[in-house]
Amino acid sequence: MTQPRTRIAIVGGGVAGLVTATLLRRMGIEARVFEQTPEFGAVGAGIQLSPNGVRVLLRLGLQEALARTGVQAQAIETRRWADGAPIARVRHGAGCTELFGAPYYLIHRADLQRCLLSVVPEDTVELGKSCARVVERPGEVELHFADGTTTTADLVIGADGVHSAVRAAVVQDEPRFSGYAVHRGLVPADVVPSFAADPRVMFWLGPRRHVTYYPVVGGDIVHFSAVGATDDARSGSFSSPGEVRELEAGFADWHEEVRRVVTAAESVTRWGLFDRDMTDRYVTDRTALLGDAAHPTLPYLSQGANQALEDAVVLARCLRDADPADPAPALRRYQALRRPRTAEVHRRARALARTFHLPDGTRQAERDHEMRAQQDLKHLDWLYGYDPEAVTARTADPAPATPAAVPAARPTHRF
Ligand SMILES: Cc1cc2nc3c(=O)[nH]c(=O)nc-3n(C[C@H](O)[C@H](O)[C@H](O)COP(=O)(O)OP(=O)(O)OC[C@H]3O[C@@H](n4cnc5c(N)ncnc54)[C@H](O)[C@@H]3O)c2cc1C
Repeated sequence: MTQPRTRIAIVGGGVAGLVTATLLRRMGIEARVFEQTPEFGAVGAGIQLSPNGVRVLLRLGLQEALARTGVQAQAIETRRWADGAPIARVRHGAGCTELFGAPYYLIHRADLQRCLLSVVPEDTVELGKSCARVVERPGEVELHFADGTTTTADLVIGADGVHSAVRAAVVQDEPRFSGYAVHRGLVPADVVPSFAADPRVMFWLGPRRHVTYYPVVGGDIVHFSAVGATDDARSGSFSSPGEVRELEAGFADWHEEVRRVVTAAESVTRWGLFDRDMTDRYVTDRTALLGDAAHPTLPYLSQGANQALEDAVVLARCLRDADPADPAPALRRYQALRRPRTAEVHRRARALARTFHLPDGTRQAERDHEMRAQQDLKHLDWLYGYDPEAVTARTADPAPATPAAVPAARPTHRF
C-alpha cells in the first residue's frame, strides 16, 4: 500500500523528530513524523537539559510546562568515589539564567516527552511506522516501512537515533560499542535528603565506573545512572531490564551514599553505550540526518538531546529558505553549520570516557586538579552560549565555505 506523498518525512519521534516537525509546521512547511513505537509511553529515566537546549524549548513556549515538572539545578558537584571528597562544584542556579538566558533543568524523560507532544500540531505523528529503508530518486525519496507500506516525500529527515535506519542512505558504518554500559533507575527523594535544600547534579568518579544522580519530577524522585566497564556489548533500550545485583557487586566498595542510591531501586534498566565515528556527511541531496542519527555521542557531556535541539533549529531555519524543488543547498548549509559544533561535542565526550574512569594515581590527581581550576560557569560558555538561531541568521550564504566557528577547545571536564 502506498501512502500519499508528503513534503518532508521525518523518521523518528524522539526529541529531534518532534521538535523539528513542530518548527517546520510553524513555518507553514508540511512535515510528518513516522515513529516506530505503537504508542508514546513513559520512558523511565532522567535527562539534563543545559541552557543551549532549554532556550530552544523556551522559544517553543514551554516555559510553564518545564517549570512545573523540571528541577532547576543549583550546581553540578563532583566527588571522589570512595570517601566522597569534593573535587569540584560548578554553581548553576540563577547565575546560569543570568549568563545564558535559561536555567539548567533536570527532568524526567516522560515529562519532557509530554512537554514536546503538547506543542506538536495534531495529525503530525504516525505511530507504529518502522522505517526499514529509504531510496533516493531524482525528485523524491521513497520510504519503505516494516509493515510493507511505502510513501514518498520531497525530503526525508532521519531522526531515528543511534541505530538509525535512514543513516544507511547517507553513510555506511556501524555503531561502535564503547566498552561501557549504564544501569539506570529511579528512587524516592528521601534517599538523598540533601537535595531538598540543594537540588543539584551529583557526580562521582572512580576507577572504571562513574555515577550520576539528580532530582526530577519537581524533586519527588531521584534519577541515577551508573556507568561501568564491561565486555557485554548488548545494546538495550530505555526499557531493557538490568540487575540490581550487578550494581550491589560493582559498587560494593564505593561511598555509602552511592551504594544507598544505586541499590534503592526496585528495578533498573541496562543500556550498552554506543556511539559512531564522526562522519563528514550528514546529508545527501534529499536526505538529512540529525540528533543521534547524525552524531551519536557518548553521554558524558549530557549533550545528546541538547545537540538534537540545536540541530532541529538550524535544519528548520535552513529549510525555511529552501527551494522545495531543490533542497540540496539548504541541506548542505545545515551540514556546514552543524558538523563542526557536533564534532567538537563528540570529541570531548570521547575524551571524557578516558578521563572519567581513571584508576587512582597521578593522572587522576591531574584530572581532579584541572576540574578544580574550572569551577566557574564561564568555562561552559562554549557549550551553553551557542545560539542556533543566531548562528543560522549570521550565515546568509547558502553553503558557507567556512563553517560557523567553534571557540578554541580548552579541555573541560564538564559532563
Ligand atoms: C545513559 C544516557 C544518558 C543521557 N543523558 C543525557 C542528558 O542528560 N542530556 C542530554 O542532552 N542527552 C542525554 N543523553 C543522550 C540523549 O538521550 C540522546 O542524544 C537523545 O535522546 C537523542 O535524541 P534523538 O531524537 O536524536 O534520538 P532518540 O531519542 O533515540 O529517538 C529516536 C526515535 O526514533 C524512533 N525510531 C528508531 N528507529 C526507527 C525506525 N526505523 N523507524 C521509525 N522510528 C524509529 C525511536 O523509537 C525513537 O522514538 C543520554 C543518553 C544516554 C544513553
